[in-house]
Amino acid sequence: PDEIVVSELASRLKVTAADVIKKLFSLGVMVTINQSVDYDTACIVAEEFGAKVTKEVVVSIEERLFEEVEDTEENLQPRSPVVVVMGHVDHGKTSLLDRIRHANVTSGEAGGITQHIGAYRVKAGGRDITFLDTPGHEAFTAMRARGALATDIAILVVAADDGIMPQTVEAINHAKAANLSIIVAINKMDKPTANPDKVKQELTEHGLVCEEWGGDVICVPVSAKTGEGIDELLEMVNLTADVLELKANPDRLAKGVVIEARIDKGRGPIATVLVQSGTLHTGDTIIAGTAVGRVRVMRDDKGKAVKEAGPSVPVEIMGLAEVPSAGDDFAAVEDEKLARELVEKRKFDAKEEQFKLYKKVSLDNLFSQI
Ligand code: GDP
Ligand code: MG
Repeated sequence: PDEIVVSELASRLKVTAADVIKKLFSLGVMVTINQSVDYDTACIVAEEFGAKVTKEVVVSIEERLFEEVEDTEENLQPRSPVVVVMGHVDHGKTSLLDRIRHANVTSGEAGGITQHIGAYRVKAGGRDITFLDTPGHEAFTAMRARGALATDIAILVVAADDGIMPQTVEAINHAKAANLSIIVAINKMDKPTANPDKVKQELTEHGLVCEEWGGDVICVPVSAKTGEGIDELLEMVNLTADVLELKANPDRLAKGVVIEARIDKGRGPIATVLVQSGTLHTGDTIIAGTAVGRVRVMRDDKGKAVKEAGPSVPVEIMGLAEVPSAGDDFAAVEDEKLARELVEKRKFDAKEEQFKLYKKVSLDNLFSQI
């Protein structure tokens, strides 16, 4: 709805309908108490009454800008899991990710392995798994703070010769707080000093009981060095994904999150985004944080130019006017002008938040129903 009835507008502004009608009259708009005015007019009237409309208008612009799609049985399609690898320093996160990634690179893609976009997809059992390869990255901190971690499954890496360490506990807590399914990879099994039972014992002290001990946590002994257990680990990721019944609607404007972003001297702002629902196409206008732009070029994790990216697919995009922040939401939109308006509002709000220069007048969701 793009309109509001005069009497309603008056009550939200806490003034009389007569005052609103008078104000509208002075603006050249002739209405009665039961007639409606459009959104823009309502905004002008609100400001005329000294209402510093900020958040309320943002809400409203967002309502107008972003596509509202009901997710139903019919439009939801299975999507691949998004996995993050966590654990104590030196327990083998990077080695494990490298092992998983390299095992999956076919000779034709070998050149693509140098590509680093912060996320990549591997095939296991004929299915795709998306890995975010930036644990401890600022995006995670930002997303975690908003409770919007873009992942489904956490692989908790614990070195079999070292056991649970402080950052292991931290990782467990983060994964639990983000409601992720946890799979434990007991790493460095090739080492003679490996003691997986000790790891399992320590895990129980943190509420994680392995399946073979009667619990519900999948524990897979692996070695990033020899490759032992890696296939099984990926199989367990697929199994967990099946249980989670991960789904998204690919037939809508894309929405998702910025994984990382940087400025490239020659090419301008570049962002890696993870599509969470919908499908992103080249040519789409997107808004990410306070950046707006049209997707000019899109590359997948192998560096290959692609025209579209669906749910759970990470892509690197070019075309934004500025660099968004890791952890920002992004969305494809139809109305570029409105997107720019929203960006201005966001910048304005951020400034206001920062300096608290004036007291904000709350209008009790003034425009939330407009
Ligand atoms: P991260 O800090 O968790 O990313 O750990 P790294 O992947 O950098 O690994 C830390 C060290 O452990 C490196 O020297 C790796 O070579 C070694 N490492 C990792 N995985 C294994 C493994 O499965 N077996 C053995 N023997 N060493 C490993
Ligand atoms: Mg590392």
